[in-house]
Amino acid sequence: MALIKLSKVSRIYDGSSVPVKALSGINLSVNRGEFTSIVGPSGSGKTTLLNIIGGLDTPSSGTVFIEGTDISSFSAGKLVEFRLRHIGFVFQAYNLIPVFTARENIEFIMLLQGRPEAERRARAIELLKAVGLARRSESRPAELSGGEQQRVAVARALASKPSFILADEPTANLDTKTASSLLDIMEELNSKSGTTFIFSTHDPRVIARAGRVITLQDGKIIHPAKRKK
Ligand code: ADP
Ligand code: MG
Repeated sequence: MALIKLSKVSRIYDGSSVPVKALSGINLSVNRGEFTSIVGPSGSGKTTLLNIIGGLDTPSSGTVFIEGTDISSFSAGKLVEFRLRHIGFVFQAYNLIPVFTARENIEFIMLLQGRPEAERRARAIELLKAVGLARRSESRPAELSGGEQQRVAVARALASKPSFILADEPTANLDTKTASSLLDIMEELNSKSGTTFIFSTHDPRVIARAGRVITLQDGKIIHPAKRKK
């Protein structure tokens, strides 16, 4: 069974007088263990697509199956619950909670999941180690560099043991060297632990690292899936 399966997904933003067709007729299947990149120019629909896969938004038409469950008709409340259990998010702007330390940012997700304190603590430390930040566990986001904050965000995304991680232009605010080391960490998590990643980007150097590239243009997939593995 595919981990993620989208069938004829369209999304029209009709809030303003001129409706915007952000996605049209998207068919897409992603398997467990993929390291997939969604690419395309600004405005091509990358964020909309990731939001729909992640249950942050719902399609105007079409269906979204995650591990065999159709989430496209879920209520808002049911989606919150589903996201918390199944999906890890990494955003372009890191989105860490400023008053929390790196460790607390990671523990917070597990707190929402109702995990016991000792387990939360141990897993947060283990994840900080995995992203090379064991020594910065008690630092707040403002005390960390952009690259370090994004590594905390990756660790946080992993905290809930999600089925997959969605990352929307995770390297957009990072310099080339820092972007490359973030990709190293994501790649290692993918190959060693089998974590499925789907990340959007328009950086050619990041695209080159993907196992599979899906190209969007004007809300449609224009490039047939290229698979390295
Ligand atoms: P990308 O992430 O590739 O830059 P987006 O998914 O953000 O693309 O946007 C796709 C299209 O949908 C663009 O034309 C954008 O202007 C439009 N769009 C995105 N979000 C909204 C919104 N909330 N309301 C109206 N239009 C939107
Ligand atoms: Mg975007």
